[in-house]
Amino acid sequence: MQEEIIRSEKMKIVGDMAASVAHEIRNPLTTIKGFIQLFATADLDKEKKMLYQKICFEELERAEVIIADYLSLAKPDPEVIEAIDIHYEMHHLSNVLMTYANYNNIQIQVATEEEQAFHIQGDRYKLRQALINLGKNAIEAMPGGGLLELRTVIRDQHAWVTLSDNGSGMSSEQVKRLGTPYYSTKEKGTGLGIMVSFGIIKKMNGKISIKSEPGEGTEFHLIFPKAN
Ligand code: ADP
Ligand code: MG
Repeated sequence: MQEEIIRSEKMKIVGDMAASVAHEIRNPLTTIKGFIQLFATADLDKEKKMLYQKICFEELERAEVIIADYLSLAKPDPEVIEAIDIHYEMHHLSNVLMTYANYNNIQIQVATEEEQAFHIQGDRYKLRQALINLGKNAIEAMPGGGLLELRTVIRDQHAWVTLSDNGSGMSSEQVKRLGTPYYSTKEKGTGLGIMVSFGIIKKMNGKISIKSEPGEGTEFHLIFPKAN
């Protein structure tokens, strides 16, 4: 697959998510601004000061995490093959999608078996890009809000990952067209996201299957072999 397409799709994801990130950063900033004003004007006892300081600190940390996760999306990375803990990645996926989900009135639920790490093999940042696009598509398929579920099960030396939404769903004709370049039903879609995602997953020796029902929702099932 062409690196050029992978890169431009990545920048599209970054661009699409920018508004939601800005929105999520604005909330903590507003909170902190309010407390600074309060500090300057009000006569606060020590206990209150401590509490307000703690809230400010937590809000700043939250903003920091949002920015860090978001920037890691845009990072250009030379391809490396490494062992990737799938449980960690699914939580990371949920964190990265959180602002976009909040913005679109969508809940994210993560279910993983976390007793121990399970490593699959590939390029961490490419895998992130692939998963983020699938998650982003799921969110965009639920314009009236909904639930995005991220499930991971370890079975037979493989990680079985499911992304499930209760959005618009697709007909079987539409499902067949997934992965063909420039197929998009969105006004500002590129129709390249799925193609890029599938390319990345297949390169990791992953398998993909899709279950979708118009008006009901969609499930993307991914199966990754354990790292050697
Ligand atoms: P884009 O998101 O730019 O349209 P993609 O390649 O990511 O391009 O997706 C192609 C098309 O596949 C989308 O326009 C949409 O019609 C369909 N699609 C992908 N994921 C879902 C989903 N979870 N639910 C419904 N339709 C989907
Ligand atoms: Mg897309």
